[in-house]
Amino acid sequence: MRSLKAQLSLSFIAVVLITVSLFSLFSFRLIDRQFSAYMENQQRSKTGSIVDNLGLQYDAATGEWNIDSVYALGMLSLSDGYIIKVYDAAGEILWDAENHEMEQCEHLMASITRRMEEHGASGDFIVRDFLLTRDGKKIGSVGISYFGPYFLSENDFGFINSLYYLLIIVCVTSLLLSFGAGVMLARRISRPVAKTADIATQIAAGNYDIRFESETKTTELYNLVSSINHLADALDAQKKLQRQLTADVAHELRTPLATLGTHLEAMIEGVWEATPERLVSCHEEIQRLGKMVVDLERLERAESDNLQLDKAPADLFALAHSVCDNFAGELTNKNLRLDIEGEHVNVMIDKDRIRGVISNLMSNAVKYTPEGGRIKISVENAENAGNLVVEDNGEGIEASKLPFIFERFYRADTSRSRGTGGTGIGLAIVKSVVSAHGGSVDVQSKPDEGSRFTVTLPKAL
Ligand code: ADP
Repeated sequence: MRSLKAQLSLSFIAVVLITVSLFSLFSFRLIDRQFSAYMENQQRSKTGSIVDNLGLQYDAATGEWNIDSVYALGMLSLSDGYIIKVYDAAGEILWDAENHEMEQCEHLMASITRRMEEHGASGDFIVRDFLLTRDGKKIGSVGISYFGPYFLSENDFGFINSLYYLLIIVCVTSLLLSFGAGVMLARRISRPVAKTADIATQIAAGNYDIRFESETKTTELYNLVSSINHLADALDAQKKLQRQLTADVAHELRTPLATLGTHLEAMIEGVWEATPERLVSCHEEIQRLGKMVVDLERLERAESDNLQLDKAPADLFALAHSVCDNFAGELTNKNLRLDIEGEHVNVMIDKDRIRGVISNLMSNAVKYTPEGGRIKISVENAENAGNLVVEDNGEGIEASKLPFIFERFYRADTSRSRGTGGTGIGLAIVKSVVSAHGGSVDVQSKPDEGSRFTVTLPKAL
């Protein structure tokens, strides 16, 4: 296995190498081709100008050649690398560079051939014949010998070499720069990934306090780091919740178990007579403990697993109606009046869970409203949410206790709720389920006037 940094760096270098090689290859080829074409063109115009200038040295009136000028032209061409042989109309030699300047010609041919071979260019001296004419009449001919298809002077070579050097410098610099940039980029990407992996390992080992403060500006890396931090947060919260739950449960079980224990002990030892009332009280306590276990299971389900919700659009009004139908018996028993009003609002919910929420609120309203009281349920269509309000004119809750009623095992009035069989878990479940839906639950209450619980749930789109 290779590290992310090594893999990224290698891929980057490979891409840059291929790009730079292709670029240089094409550039060298292109320069070579263009330069050859240019030089061949130059060669042609040079021979053309030699022929033209020679033609001008013929005097048509006298039919004579200006030998001095032909000589001067021959020497000039020789210095440029062209060996010429000029004939008159009759084919007699007027001037022959090889004859007149044999040594210089040989030297020239040897030096051009050597120079071209040194630079790896192929070619050889070639002779091309041209007719010299005046007004369409042949006045002579010239044979021009030069290194073909073209040859380069030292200056030409100097120019083309500096062009190649420049290209090589550009290639090497871009290679080095991209290499540096690639390594830096690879490090910037791989560092947070490696650190996140390290943190994940530590989280797996149970260290939930650890967090990663990364300054990455890459969206995906930022998301990765945030996810890991959230994971640590969630696990941390879960761990604390578990501890808290265990402590709460132990605390809640201790008192009723101790009471039951001492009562039963007293009856066994004959200190207390086992009257039906005392046995009923013990039985009620056991029932309350049983209910607490059931509620705990429900709470555990609501709080753990981050609530796997099976959400779908549902009519909140219809749902409230159907839940209230189940309370018909209790309402009649306590002679409570129930009003349901409001409008149909489609909300995005897990129907079974929200059914539980409404049921909890209804059951509290029934429990904490004295006989002959009144309960009202209203469903409101708000801008982005559906609101469900459960209102009663029951005993109400003291302002100082309101902030705590959604906490586990919290009972506003212990003595009275003991009588109603409350465990203080119902509202904790309500809050947990509603929060998991992205909603909220609110309470307003006044002692002896009544309570009003408002559940806000997101609308279905
Ligand atoms: P419980 O099982 O005790 O009803 P809950 O979590 O449902 O537990 O409620 C917590 C406490 O909030 C209750 O013990 C009660 O004191 C108070 N409470 C809840 N609903 C009402 C209400 N409608 N009227 C008055 N008090 C309420």
